[in-house]
Amino acid sequence: MGSFHDMQAYIDGSALRYTARCDCGWDGKTRWSRASAMIDVGTHAVDTGHYPVPVPATTAEPVLVLKAS
Ligand SMILES: [Zn+2]
Repeated sequence: MGSFHDMQAYIDGSALRYTARCDCGWDGKTRWSRASAMIDVGTHAVDTGHYPVPVPATTAEPVLVLKAS
């Protein structure tokens, strides 16, 4: 559980439509590459002191289910 000070900036979206977002309500531009959205996250983090989350991944990415059998 974080405190009210722990605003987290992260990337939302899927392939070709990445958007940097933050718990403070800030949204970045929609980017076609994850790298560009990461730059937005980093810039926002520097500007505000909010915490960048490197890889959200669990819900934003297509899930590949691999069964080793
Ligand atoms: Zn923020």
